[in-house]
Amino acid sequence: MRFEHLNVVVSIDGLQPEHDERRKPATYERIQKSIAGSRVTIHCTITGNIASRPGYLEEFLRYWTVQPEIRRVWFSLFTPQRGAEGPGAADSGPATRGNGGAAAVTRHVTNEIDMHLAIYKVRPDVQAVVHAHPVFATAFACSGLALDRPLCAEVVMTLGSIPLAPYATTGTCAVAKALAPFLPGHDAVLLANHGVVTYGHSLNDALMKMETVEHFAQICIAVRQLGGGALIAGEDMTALLRARTAYQRKAAPHL
Ligand SMILES: [Zn+2]
Repeated sequence: MRFEHLNVVVSIDGLQPEHDERRKPATYERIQKSIAGSRVTIHCTITGNIASRPGYLEEFLRYWTVQPEIRRVWFSLFTPQRGAEGPGAADSGPATRGNGGAAAVTRHVTNEIDMHLAIYKVRPDVQAVVHAHPVFATAFACSGLALDRPLCAEVVMTLGSIPLAPYATTGTCAVAKALAPFLPGHDAVLLANHGVVTYGHSLNDALMKMETVEHFAQICIAVRQLGGGALIAGEDMTALLRARTAYQRKAAPHL
């Protein structure tokens, strides 16, 4: 029976030696036989162990992306959770291995998890959230200043404006509440006296938005030093916003 929009995802535990060891009898060989003639998505969770091995993900992609059955490859990041302690969780985070072979994991879910969850809840299109405290953008957030002046065409086109959410105590649900009004219309928000959060349809998309925010913050500081800058306005702005709509459609064609 064929179902429209049905997307079969096959979970793989990394490269063949690790996968075959852990997933026997569902080995690489068995999976490839089972999916022959189908179209599937491959999913792999990136653990600390995988992330710390140079070239590992490239090799994984080289192997799977040439297989005719593979529509796409999904990676998700493993987030260490409360209770993920002891040797059994040895690959749950980087730099957790000692010379004696015993591993001690001290990481746990960030206390900013509510903020991440609030974004996923309000924005079903979002697949990844990046939160950081980069120097220049955080300086704006600590000065009570949004990055919302239309100075750079490219920033307007890719991000629109970057508002400033009011201050809220880190690690409390007040952060999610402060963010809420800005979530539907923005993909990047400054958090007063705290940092920046960006989100997008992929981890790379969210990360690039974070880079753009920080880069734009640096430009804004330089522009202030040069006397304030000339804003994009009027018809130019209308044309740019039209281009932004087209850009958004192109950037996320699945939406
Ligand atoms: Zn933070």
